[in-house]
This record gives sequence, C-alpha cells and structure tokens, in this order.
Amino acid sequence: MKSETLNKLKISANAAKYDVSCASSGSNRPNTGKGIGNTSPWGICHSFTEDGRCISLLKLMQTNHCIYDCAYCANRKSNDIQRTTFTVNEVTELTIEFYRRNYIEGLFLSSGIIKNPD
Ligand code: SF4
Repeated sequence: MKSETLNKLKISANAAKYDVSCASSGSNRPNTGKGIGNTSPWGICHSFTEDGRCISLLKLMQTNHCIYDCAYCANRKSNDIQRTTFTVNEVTELTIEFYRRNYIEGLFLSSGIIKNPD
C-alpha cells in the first residue's frame, strides 16, 4: 500500500471510530509478547448479519471534512483535526484489496459533508 494511501486510511479510519454502530469500535490491544495478534482502535470493526454471523468490515469515512458543526461530532468543522478525502477509486481499491486478502467481508462507509448533503 502506498504511504499516502496508508496515511489517508489512518486519518479516515480514526475519524470513523466514534461511530459506535459496530460492536468492536475502539478496541485497542497491543501485542505485549504474551499473546498473539494486535488490535487497533481504528480500521476494521465487526458487526452481525441477520442470520447471526459475525463479520469484519473495513470502517472508514469517504472524507472527514465537513461544512457542518454538530457539537457532538469529532469531525465538526470547528474541530482542529487532520483532514483527508478518498477518491471513489481509492475506497474501491482498498476495499477489494482487503477483501481479496480475507481481512474483511464488507465495508462500513460514512462521510462528512463537503459541499451539501446531496
Ligand atoms: S454533519 Fe458533519 S459535523 Fe455533523 S455529525 Fe455529520 S460529519 Fe459530524
């Protein structure tokens, strides 16, 4: 993965972590050498299908730029945070590449509002 895309992914996925619709949002468990694997508070979350299966989703925002200033939201325009925007092709490529590697089974995509809600 290109370092520019990885940087965008970190910013975007970090901005999406406050959306707690996914069961595992915010999990952070670094490997201390006594176990296996790492989890990060951003990136991949879990949800449940209607038939009860637990699935992994790539969770990110198309953009965390926003023209609105909702007081409860980390991505509000008055908040001084790093901003980034993915192109449609970047989101598609990231999703397919994670899917091909069997890391995810779907995409959880949300977005700030750049120009207008349409
Ligand atoms: S409209 Fe913008 S500021 Fe309001 S909740 Fe959505 S992303 Fe956050």
